[in-house]
Amino acid sequence: MLYDNHGRKINYVRLAVTDRCNLRCFYCMPEEGINYVDKHDLLSYEEMIRLVELLVDMGIDKVRITGGEPFVRRDMMDFLRHISKISGLKQINITTNGTTTAPLVPELKAIGIKSINLSMDTLDPARFFEITRRNVFNEVMNTFHALLEHGIQTKINAVVMDGKNTDDLIPMAELTKNHPVSVRFIEEMPFNGEGNHYQELHWNHRRILELLKTAFPNLEKLTDPPNSTSYNYQVPGFKGDIGIIAAYSRTFCGTCNRIRITPQGGLRTCLYDNGVFNIRDLMRQGASDQQIRDTFVTALGNRAKDGWEAEKNRNFGLPVTESMATIGG
Ligand code: SAM
Repeated sequence: MLYDNHGRKINYVRLAVTDRCNLRCFYCMPEEGINYVDKHDLLSYEEMIRLVELLVDMGIDKVRITGGEPFVRRDMMDFLRHISKISGLKQINITTNGTTTAPLVPELKAIGIKSINLSMDTLDPARFFEITRRNVFNEVMNTFHALLEHGIQTKINAVVMDGKNTDDLIPMAELTKNHPVSVRFIEEMPFNGEGNHYQELHWNHRRILELLKTAFPNLEKLTDPPNSTSYNYQVPGFKGDIGIIAAYSRTFCGTCNRIRITPQGGLRTCLYDNGVFNIRDLMRQGASDQQIRDTFVTALGNRAKDGWEAEKNRNFGLPVTESMATIGG
């Protein structure tokens, strides 16, 4: 079992399989001038499989595949099929923008993918284009319907952006009336790849909740599952539920059970840290399994208490400017 120096058990890894994405969401990436990582610098599939096997050996039982957009990496389905056979790995979840996912849904179901987070910030096609700079709203909606049809647990993730999509919050929450879906509203974080537009957070978790309560005064608080990053609610009688993720306010760090691996193999013990060591380099230098395990144990023995401490320790106080796609959202 992996524990950190604050006594938190670590059983969940978020693995970013690419930094590439076919959308250009303005809160995540600049429109142009992105320096993608060279293919050779990405973890190879063999390296990722070895990594997942090692982590499962150490007590990780849940993997989330993310990126960049996971499905823009070639042979992604083969990789998923492969890791789905690792014994001890209980759950594989995926975070996707849904632009190319709909035709894959039956196969994802067959592989045993339990839950998919679908990123969708608006129900309005024109606004979708403004936010993502790509005209593929219908493709994402097709994925949403395919996921429901195939009974894959679906969570919609919407970043709440001041002056952009706050009119969408109520209509999106209303999706939970007839669909067994979780709609989760996320505080915007500074990871936009530019570091220029992010001044301060206008919509924190409290303000999001206040707005929801204007439309749903009888909104009920649900009991949050252990290690939940969302505060969860439900409108009585609705089929789905509503979550609010205080990603910037960082109210959930106390129970954090997760680590992140970036597309180049960097270990992040916190979304806000600077990277602790590089697993790809270790592997390519010929490290043994035991050496890699020991390095994980040491890294977790020096983990920041929370995202505020991690941020303070990084870059000597310089602001965060990375894109979520290069960290793994
Ligand atoms: N391409 C996939 C997708 O769109 O879901 C996976 C990667 S994406 C970086 C993962 C999640 O990070 C998305 O839900 C996205 O909205 C979220 N995200 C990206 N930048 C963010 C930011 N600055 N603040 C909050 N969430 C952000």
